[in-house]
Amino acid sequence: MYTCASCSVYACGEEHPEKLPKNCPMHQEALMQTVLETYALPENREFYITASELEALGYCQWPRLKETIRLCQAMGYTRVGLAFCRGLRQEAKVVDTLLRRAGLEVVSVICKTGGIDKERCGISPEGKVHPGNFEPMCNPIAQAMLLNHQKTQFNIALGLCVGHDSMFYKYSDALVTTLVAKDRVTGHNPAAAIYCAEGYFKDRL
Ligand code: SF4
Repeated sequence: MYTCASCSVYACGEEHPEKLPKNCPMHQEALMQTVLETYALPENREFYITASELEALGYCQWPRLKETIRLCQAMGYTRVGLAFCRGLRQEAKVVDTLLRRAGLEVVSVICKTGGIDKERCGISPEGKVHPGNFEPMCNPIAQAMLLNHQKTQFNIALGLCVGHDSMFYKYSDALVTTLVAKDRVTGHNPAAAIYCAEGYFKDRL
């Protein structure tokens, strides 16, 4: 079992293979070779190198939004998908405008598309946020399939719920990046709860 999260050696950040902890994943030399070969596949090579070089170019200067736009431009994408949450529809408008301003064609799909009541997909009446009312289900599979149908070259997830985002990633044909990770409690800054895990958030985690 690998436990990088509790490692204090971090030999992977240096050229000191003799320091590897006993259960370090880097002992899996054959697997690491396969990994390198996987990056070399035509469908991965350009994307990975472009993303990595952009990381260096805008390092500590560009916000994620700009990194996302620059990645689309550097990859030569002309048509991108924007899968967004209804709760962030104002933010989606801003992102849509900025993407278009950068020369991209944007296909956007809201999470509530389909307008299907939650109970129709098996969610219990008590499992609704407001039981007893019509409540449209979030529909990440539809978001993915609609964008697939529109042949988007790259998809951007904006504020999809935990788990709904997973299903969107699963069904999207194009690679996906997450621009905003939804966190209703922290203004969509999940790291805040991590930073305050031993403090203000201690009793809420
Ligand atoms: S890869 Fe090895 S050295 Fe790096 S964090 Fe994991 S266990 Fe530690």
